[in-house]
Amino acid sequence: MLASSAGMRVTLLETRDRVGGRTSTLEHDGYRFDLGPTFFLYPEALRSLFRMCGLSLDDAVDLQRVDPHYRLVFGGDTSLDVVPDPDEMERRIAELAPEDAPSFKHFLRDNRRKLSKTTPILQRPFSSPLDLLQLPIADLFTSLRPWSSVDSDLRRYFDDPRIRLAFSFQSKYLGMSPFKCPSLFTILSFMEYEYGIFHPRGGCGAVSQTMADIAVDMGTDLRLDTTVTGFDFEGRRVTAVLTEDERFDCDSVIVNADFAHAMPRLVPDHLRRRWSDRRIARKKYSCSTFMMYLGLDGEVDLPHHSIHLAEDYKQNLADIEGEMRLSEDPSFYICNPSTTDESMAPEGRSALYVLVPVPHRNRNVDWSRDFAPFRAKVLRKLESAGVADLERRIRFEKVMTPATWESDMRIHLGATFSLAHTMDQLLHLRPQNRFEELDGVFLVGGATHPGSGLPVIYESAKISTRLMAEDLGVTVPWQDPDVAVRPEHLEQQASLG
Ligand SMILES: Cc1cc2nc3c(=O)[nH]c(=O)nc-3n(C[C@H](O)[C@H](O)[C@H](O)COP(=O)(O)OP(=O)(O)OC[C@H]3O[C@@H](n4cnc5c(N)ncnc54)[C@H](O)[C@@H]3O)c2cc1C
Repeated sequence: MLASSAGMRVTLLETRDRVGGRTSTLEHDGYRFDLGPTFFLYPEALRSLFRMCGLSLDDAVDLQRVDPHYRLVFGGDTSLDVVPDPDEMERRIAELAPEDAPSFKHFLRDNRRKLSKTTPILQRPFSSPLDLLQLPIADLFTSLRPWSSVDSDLRRYFDDPRIRLAFSFQSKYLGMSPFKCPSLFTILSFMEYEYGIFHPRGGCGAVSQTMADIAVDMGTDLRLDTTVTGFDFEGRRVTAVLTEDERFDCDSVIVNADFAHAMPRLVPDHLRRRWSDRRIARKKYSCSTFMMYLGLDGEVDLPHHSIHLAEDYKQNLADIEGEMRLSEDPSFYICNPSTTDESMAPEGRSALYVLVPVPHRNRNVDWSRDFAPFRAKVLRKLESAGVADLERRIRFEKVMTPATWESDMRIHLGATFSLAHTMDQLLHLRPQNRFEELDGVFLVGGATHPGSGLPVIYESAKISTRLMAEDLGVTVPWQDPDVAVRPEHLEQQASLG
């Protein structure tokens, strides 16, 4: 959308029969499931992208606010319905943990400040440690507390571990444990209260389809069922993109495919130094997810989102990230979107989406062996969560495992949230938006800066398209105040040569 709106001639090559990748829709007999994202957070990131193209997100997509945000169930026992209204939320925290309630608004206030300091970092490229010097380091150090994890930061506010979980399980949006995830990411739960949680009518996949339709209207040449198999190079410059039977000459390429899956297949190892095959293999990757998409007879008495946290959540996380094995007692998340949007299932039926965080593909788990017992365990969990008589009601079922995320969706190790978001894999230490190994190549998506998740991948699109336009000498029409690259940064790039 951004490149086409700036008058560039764009060809979009997509291997699947539909756009959106992880953010696409799975449809069967009137049941609609989001394949991946179901929480549409911080719409402002996409709103500003639409504005940059002279369009309005709210005209194109019907965003429905979800209230209550979600039900949290702790160890199958106590539960907390999380609501957006801060006074009501404070009352609900007080019912579980009276001493923690007054800290809720302090948490919001401190994280509002933290987010305002973080936003410029998320909106600009980082190509070298020198870029860090442009930031108010001392100030950032004290508010972002890079030495601390999400959980330890939350201990400053909340004593009750259940309340800490209510503000930290969101680290799983990045595929990380809150005990390891950098404390910067307490902004994730804050953003839910500050900006709300939305459901786009038709699901998040419908947003991808709408964006593709707009891009095509603007002149993008969209080729579905077209797999990129490699590039032609002149030295380090990509001069053409290759598919099995076609060659597309180009001035620039934007790579959106999963970085660690695509690079070893598309770019010869000898052209990559920092991101050689050996180094890509040594990086840390996020967890994966075991998914069940269930088309059921009848309605289900569950809220739009419910999150069931294992009784021993720490052990569950240790299984996923440390031992790399399947948990005896896994946490899981159920999405029941037809409570908000009747277009997601035929009348009187339900399209249940079930997500179980699991380790990415590794030799401890053999999915051809472990699949059946794990599926049975998840179905038992669903029954105990209140979905009665489940097996008899299943009319449609699709399952994804780390192995199928890798084989069907081309995601390295099935690590659904890309490279882990550890401090040593953030900012200039992530594969860069202007890909540092090649000329004329730019990266977007979860594996580049700023990271995984819809709001931030949209930011990566703004950053990378801006850099590409800059390299091609294209004057862009974007007047939005949120434009990704600030003039002082471009000056610095120029002075660094
Ligand atoms: C189960 C799950 C739940 C999630 N929940 C949320 C959520 O609630 N909220 C949120 O904000 N984020 C969520 N996320 C994260 C979010 O989905 C990702 O950050 C985001 O979709 C990643 O987008 P991407 O563009 O990097 O990758 P992708 O969406 O995977 O896009 C890559 C595209 O490249 C294509 N491709 C790959 N190789 C080739 C090739 N050789 N030739 C042509 N095309 C190719 C793929 O088919 C795909 O369309 C979730 C992710 C998952 C998996």
